[in-house]
Amino acid sequence: MDPECIFVLDHYNDYISGELHPDKIERVEKHLKLCPNCENFLSKAFQIHGRTIDLLKRVPAPKTLKKSISDLFDSA
Ligand SMILES: [Zn+2]
Repeated sequence: MDPECIFVLDHYNDYISGELHPDKIERVEKHLKLCPNCENFLSKAFQIHGRTIDLLKRVPAPKTLKKSISDLFDSA
């Protein structure tokens, strides 16, 4: 496997959420232009990510989940 493909796979999550360092974004985007596989993979990942955010906005989290999350923060 191309090491650049591995780099993209390692960092796509941060890339999608916009948390990737600009230098690394450049490296990812450079590779996407050369590699249809990664381009394809990332465009799907973007769609799924968009859907996940959509769902989180639309579906209210169950109270028990909200409670366990706030418990986590309280104990931190
Ligand atoms: Zn690739």
